[in-house]
Amino acid sequence: MTTHVTVIGLGAMGSTMAEMFLKAGHQVTVWNRTPGKAGALVALGAHEASSPAEAGELLVISQLDYQAMYDSLGDVDLRGKVLVNLSSDAPSVLREASDWVAARGGVLVTGGIMVPPPGIGRPGAYTFYSGPAEVVTRHTETLKAISDVTYVGADPALAMVFYQSQLFMFWSGLTAYMYASALAQSAGVAPSQLLPFAQETFGGIAGEGPMGFLKYLTAEFEERSYPGEANSLHMQAVGMGHVVHAFEEAGIDATLPVALKRLFERADAEGRGAEGLGTVIESIKKP
Ligand code: NDP
Repeated sequence: MTTHVTVIGLGAMGSTMAEMFLKAGHQVTVWNRTPGKAGALVALGAHEASSPAEAGELLVISQLDYQAMYDSLGDVDLRGKVLVNLSSDAPSVLREASDWVAARGGVLVTGGIMVPPPGIGRPGAYTFYSGPAEVVTRHTETLKAISDVTYVGADPALAMVFYQSQLFMFWSGLTAYMYASALAQSAGVAPSQLLPFAQETFGGIAGEGPMGFLKYLTAEFEERSYPGEANSLHMQAVGMGHVVHAFEEAGIDATLPVALKRLFERADAEGRGAEGLGTVIESIKKP
């Protein structure tokens, strides 16, 4: 089925989305704040609108943040429009945006897309969507041109809750790897020598074996019970101090290790040192 899709925002993400909608056979209109970015898309068959007011029913927005949507569509009649906003922002901003669109007669579907530009429209790409289920369902076939559709609930904030959670794990996990590699290099260990062990650690954490801590911790979070007989938090807080010591004596930055040490020590000081590592989540929930 051919749909008329208007892509608002032609940055790295929006341009690729527009290309994928075109390749899927949809009728595509594009608009960007700064003109001059639509040439390649027009050559592929897109229509470049001179104003976002020219949009069809379905608007797919990919801009820097939600303020950009207000700046772009503040004067546009949104009656009968479905806005699918795939920009990043904070969950509360998405809730406010949903009310803002509804007050103008439109419907907002929020999304958090989990791939960079080269992954858009490729196998394995997926996007968290939240908002009215029936609207997401109605547009699922069209949206599949850019990624799989993973609907996470009616609360418009949820797409960003899932997206930010994933992004935080991605950034902090990779930054931990940068710290680990810097420490290894300070002792003359080549990054490629560390790589197989990093793969073992990340793979093990996500897996089903004895290092499958994602699964263990999830069960503990569900129960809010953190048995620590085999490896107490207190022991790990002391061990984290040794990690910090290693970074400091290597003369490299210790910001992230120090932050972890402080967090573990706070949970210990709150009286839960005999529990397991998972108990740290209780300290995270109460800053
Ligand atoms: P870019 O910086 O490439 O593009 C930003 C877009 O936002 C441009 O079209 C820009 O228009 C527009 N824009 C910015 N401010 C305004 C404004 N005030 N009014 C109107 N338009 C505005 O960003 P990306 O395409 O990389 O990212 C877009 C969104 O997707 C971001 O929220 C990002 O966090 C998210 N994202 C990005 C990923 C990535 O790997 N790149 C992955 C997943 C999500 P102009 O050309 O006029 O400046």
